[in-house]
Amino acid sequence: MSAVVVVHGGAWAIPDDLAKASVDGVKAAACEGHSVLKRGGSALDAVEAAVRALEDNTVFNAGHGGTLNTEGEVELDAIIMDGRTLGNGAVSSAKNIAHPVTLARAVMEKTSHCMLTSRGANQFAESIGMATVPTETMVTEYERKEWEKHKNYVTGVMEDFNAQWAHDTVGAVAVDCSGNVACATSTGGIRNKMVGRVGDSPIIGSGGYADNLSGAVSCTGHGESILKVTLARLIISHIEQGKSVADSSQLSLQYMGNRVHGAGGAIVVSPSGQWAATFTTERMAWAAVDHDVLWFGLDPNQRSKEQLSN
Ligand code: ASP
Repeated sequence: MSAVVVVHGGAWAIPDDLAKASVDGVKAAACEGHSVLKRGGSALDAVEAAVRALEDNTVFNAGHGGTLNTEGEVELDAIIMDGRTLGNGAVSSAKNIAHPVTLARAVMEKTSHCMLTSRGANQFAESIGMATVPTETMVTEYERKEWEKHKNYVTGVMEDFNAQWAHDTVGAVAVDCSGNVACATSTGGIRNKMVGRVGDSPIIGSGGYADNLSGAVSCTGHGESILKVTLARLIISHIEQGKSVADSSQLSLQYMGNRVHGAGGAIVVSPSGQWAATFTTERMAWAAVDHDVLWFGLDPNQRSKEQLSN
């Protein structure tokens, strides 16, 4: 059984000046996840490592580089899910946390709950000794300028997902050499969201889902649309009915477009190592490592590859 990891850096109209940095970032994160799998690590360890790498990279809207809400603050959402047990942990509206995915994993492993939000998420972080990071170091110059420019959520959504500009949630899915699958998704949300707005990303079945019986999914795109169709679970239900991972993602994204006019993207892996990276936005930066080959893309139908050294 060969291990596979797939990552995304968000589905939206990625401008040319961020294209190379976005592709380089997802390639590096996929390699990070791959090295965990290669050392015999679990799918859960691999998705956490890949998402941490994306959270550290300010080109992406997760951890460092998160978007600002209407009050100019960063509120972070993340989920992680283990396909072996259906165990999952999530945080929403957490502030000043460098690696929300790791906090989500701690919720899964160290509490009896599936999600902690806002003050509770931060209190829990403090209780387990997870340090907070000053806001100034988390917010990029780029984000401050964009926020000043478009102080309106609805315009931002139109621009991000239908035309030009804005954001990128990150995510990873993996299958390890024992056939266990896992997913993780992390985001700063959508620029100019209301204080306390929670999108799809930390919600089980919307921003992500993982089940060893079918596969693992991480989604990105317009959160309010993804929530309405529970996109991750919709993709899984197509897989359960016998469709390929590629067809399942395509059909579900098309359904979201037709039913609620939302655009987005998804990465999927099955327990047998089939994988797909699909989107209905202009672009989505994604990368995958399968049998020591690094696959990556940004534009529709782009599937580039590089051989990794053993
Ligand atoms: N889905 C995220 C949200 O709505 C945004 C994104 O994927 O870019 O919070």
